[in-house]
Amino acid sequence: MSFACPVCGFPGLDEAPRDEHGCASFEICPCCGIEFGYEDAMTSHSELRARWIAGGKRWWSYKGPPPDWDADTQLTRINE
Ligand SMILES: [Zn+2]
Repeated sequence: MSFACPVCGFPGLDEAPRDEHGCASFEICPCCGIEFGYEDAMTSHSELRARWIAGGKRWWSYKGPPPDWDADTQLTRINE
């Protein structure tokens, strides 16, 4: 089971960014680098997304993106 990042749309998160009680996972999205429960506590997902896009839609993790990774494709999956 994997979850999509509500900021960048990356579909490979290990945990839901927030559970059914609203508790954050504190997982860091390897794509946009947002830590759920930290960055998104003060700033909306749409604003964080706009910043990530303005910054060039760069992959965040040192591990590098999946071979078929495409920022624009995953962004189209976000319906917020
Ligand atoms: Zn993300």
